[in-house]
Amino acid sequence: MTKTIGFIGLGNMGGPMAANLVKAGHQVRVFDLQQSAMAHLAELGAVKADSARQAAQQADVVISMLPAGKHVDSLYLGEQGLIDCLSSQTLVIDCSTIDAETAQRVGQQLAQKGIAFIDAPVSGGTAGAQAGTLTFIVGGEITAFDNAQSVLQCMGKNIFHAGGHGAGQIAKICNNMLLSILMAGTAEALQMGIDNGLDPKVLSDIMLQSSGRNWTLELYNPCPDVMPNVPSSKSYQGGFMVDLMKKDLGLAMDTANKSQSTTPMGALAQSLYKLHSLQGNGKLDFSSIFKLYSSHQD
Ligand code: NAD
Repeated sequence: MTKTIGFIGLGNMGGPMAANLVKAGHQVRVFDLQQSAMAHLAELGAVKADSARQAAQQADVVISMLPAGKHVDSLYLGEQGLIDCLSSQTLVIDCSTIDAETAQRVGQQLAQKGIAFIDAPVSGGTAGAQAGTLTFIVGGEITAFDNAQSVLQCMGKNIFHAGGHGAGQIAKICNNMLLSILMAGTAEALQMGIDNGLDPKVLSDIMLQSSGRNWTLELYNPCPDVMPNVPSSKSYQGGFMVDLMKKDLGLAMDTANKSQSTTPMGALAQSLYKLHSLQGNGKLDFSSIFKLYSSHQD
């Protein structure tokens, strides 16, 4: 069934996600602070809104895909917050990766007004957003989860219910902490092989068929020119920014502190990504952590 969807935040992820909703035949009203992002979606058939409120008013579903918790908090609960203009018929889906507390607070405050909310952060990167094959990791009431299925299926392939409000964010942050460790470890192993005369493509093929196999070797090799069409072979442009991974590792460490969990590998990965960002690489894709290991060869 065709739905009216308000989509807010049309960046590297939100842009292609909104495009897939248009392709699926939904009426999509878009808003972003960047005019160019809205213009691109309008060319594909979406309607440009003048404000987040205009995009959200009388929508069946509102989706947000913003950088961090402060943006999500302000969008829904701030001075001009959507909480005052949404109807109790609207389903709100926040796909941003943010702290679980903000997701819980927004979810609870919307619930007090009878508005259903799920946190639904994603995994799969920009390629998954474009192909419509994202994994959604959902926190919230099961009825809201069920109601979101038909819309999420236009943008993703695997849809998991992790638990109540905020549980999607906790699961997502566990995944990204592991991903950062795998990426740094893979870069470290590849560079040691190169330093000892190995061809990184040959070494990657060997590790892919050995016990070091992991997602970064399969789909996102950090060493330039080992794989086509990945950020490492495009000067680390596009993809998932170092500064966003740095943000996620901050969220992971805050979560670990609160739950008194022991996360030495996550803490080390956080230091590595912080250092890498401080060296001026914050806007590059996170696989550029490889440069931290390879720079002695420059
Ligand atoms: P991005 O910086 O490319 O996009 C964010 C967009 O939000 C920008 O276009 C910006 O103009 C817009 N924006 C910011 N504040 C706004 C506001 N108040 N109103 C309207 N628009 C506003 O970021 P991204 O890579 O698309 O990531 C978005 C979220 O998805 C982040 O939380 C990130 O951690 C998460 N994520 C990213 C990836 C990835 O591979 N890029 C993968 C999984 C999850």
